[in-house]
Amino acid sequence: MIALDEVTKVYPGGVTALGGVTLRIAPGELVAIVGPSGSGKSTMLNVLGTLDRPTSGSVRLDSYDVAQLSDAGLSALRASRIGFVFQQFHLASGVRAIDNVADGLLYSGLRSRERRHRAAAALDRVGLSHRVDHEPHELSGGERQRVAIARAVAGDPAILLADEPTGALDSHSGAGVMHLFHTLNQAGTTVVVITHDRDIAASLPRQIHMRDGHITEEVNR
Ligand code: ADP
Ligand code: MG
Repeated sequence: MIALDEVTKVYPGGVTALGGVTLRIAPGELVAIVGPSGSGKSTMLNVLGTLDRPTSGSVRLDSYDVAQLSDAGLSALRASRIGFVFQQFHLASGVRAIDNVADGLLYSGLRSRERRHRAAAALDRVGLSHRVDHEPHELSGGERQRVAIARAVAGDPAILLADEPTGALDSHSGAGVMHLFHTLNQAGTTVVVITHDRDIAASLPRQIHMRDGHITEEVNR
């Protein structure tokens, strides 16, 4: 489903964030990418998620070679296939949960009523049916991240990419978010969780360890 071959990423200024990474992620996997700060995890997520193009090497998503797609083509592929979750939630303030989730479907081509219908169903999936009318400032950190996850899965993406999704949460809320990823994975979504937390990584069936832009170790259990 995702294939990286000898991918490098050199940022302007000369920092080599990825130094030749080869990786396969199959449909239905639940994977951790783990490593210390600065090891290239977020760069990896951006490349996996087609938010950024590699400097060299190939990135394939489904049957598509990312290098062959225009920016518009990539956006369309991303919108239909990938959901993103970030450490800082990235919810719109002053906007109710239902609308934060429904607005994630703005470019889906769905009508407003269907977007809201799907948003309500997604909030139900993450256990927030009782919070649909709450604005972000009326929600706990864990609830805000659940709204962000609902937004990420409302369009039913095949792949969910999460960058330090528990990084801003207390351990109890973090455990709830991880439990939710397991549940979504069991329902068929491929989930990739990026974390610097080795305990969180160890709770997932496959761990890809990174350091200085390289994969140093893979663990499967
Ligand atoms: P991680 O998520 O593991 O902390 P990153 O992928 O964010 O690592 O960063 C890897 C390396 O690339 C770091 O040295 C970082 O400073 C550098 N880097 C990240 N983003 C940029 C950027 N936009 N421009 C220049 N350097 C960057
Ligand atoms: Mg990062």
